Amino acid sequence: MTSAEFSDHALRPRSLNEYVGQTKLKDKLGVYLQAARGRSEALDHTLLFGPPGLGKTTLAHIIAYELGVNLQKTSGPAIEKPGDLAAILTNSLEEGDVLFIDEIHRLGRVAEEHLYPAMEDFKLDIVLGQGPAARTIELPLPRFTLVGATTRPGLITAPMRSRFGIIEHLEYYTAEEIGQNLLRDAGLLGFALQGEAALEIGGRSRGTMRIAKRLLRRVRDFAEVAGEPVITLERAHDALDKLGLDSAGLDDRDKKYLETLIHRFAGGPVGVDTLATAISEDALTLEDVYEPYLIQLGFIKRTPRGRVATAHAYDHLGLPVSGDGDL
Ligand code: ADP
Repeated sequence: MTSAEFSDHALRPRSLNEYVGQTKLKDKLGVYLQAARGRSEALDHTLLFGPPGLGKTTLAHIIAYELGVNLQKTSGPAIEKPGDLAAILTNSLEEGDVLFIDEIHRLGRVAEEHLYPAMEDFKLDIVLGQGPAARTIELPLPRFTLVGATTRPGLITAPMRSRFGIIEHLEYYTAEEIGQNLLRDAGLLGFALQGEAALEIGGRSRGTMRIAKRLLRRVRDFAEVAGEPVITLERAHDALDKLGLDSAGLDDRDKKYLETLIHRFAGGPVGVDTLATAISEDALTLEDVYEPYLIQLGFIKRTPRGRVATAHAYDHLGLPVSGDGDL
């Protein structure tokens, strides 16, 4: 089996039951789905937010599967002009379908304004012609469910947010939840993975399913090349060390972030832009990818004056706590 097949949709959970973790969210969503099915209605528009790789896209597919409808997928940056939106909404969308817009915070402003009546009244205002001769026609749309996903809920405008009936946050997974999912994947792909090895990978995956799946592929490479038919805890441990992941799942880039914050900026506070420049990254990547997990671990804090390393971060790096920062 190739890597491409490995990461294929085949492994993607199809129903809510197969979707690991996110228990509170699943419980609520299960009720909303059952109610919508009972009334033969489209589900309310749903906004999912959380860091990348936690399962927002997967959940959108599950919503469509559970409702027995099709899913149309697009993304905020792909919808620049109202015409792009009209094409999507009028071409292929059928009654009850799910329209999934990834990175919905990156939707163009004008397109966003056209989306409001589509979400609220299931109609689209299309302007024909220009200048004084221009006229608007109203195009009825099927009742659809918009599922929006974002890593940056703070960038969703208030009028947009208010049009979602369901707003849910995805959480980082525990090592156990990830381990459970990896065991399922290994079972589906027909290779042997020890429970302890799955847990070890789970604990070093930054609480993120997508990362866990990637790490499992790498660990499996090491096991196969070593001629081992079963992925053991020792092999997982060794392979993850070779990949440069420490016990908390931090990689070289995370460590560079923390070390720069601690050594160059005396543990902070330091502004995100300054920090980003110092480690040659862009500030958005820092905010979306590095920091949520470092905050979750309690290694850094975002304060009004900038980023601050906590005592836990010093501990983790084996450094004496110094300075008079907000520890
Ligand atoms: P996002 O849209 O949040 O970036 P995805 O939905 O693309 O994340 O998920 C990344 C990968 O992890 C996919 O391969 C998906 O099937 C898997 N995955 C995510 N969440 C779960 C879950 N709760 N249970 C099982 N697999 C999951």
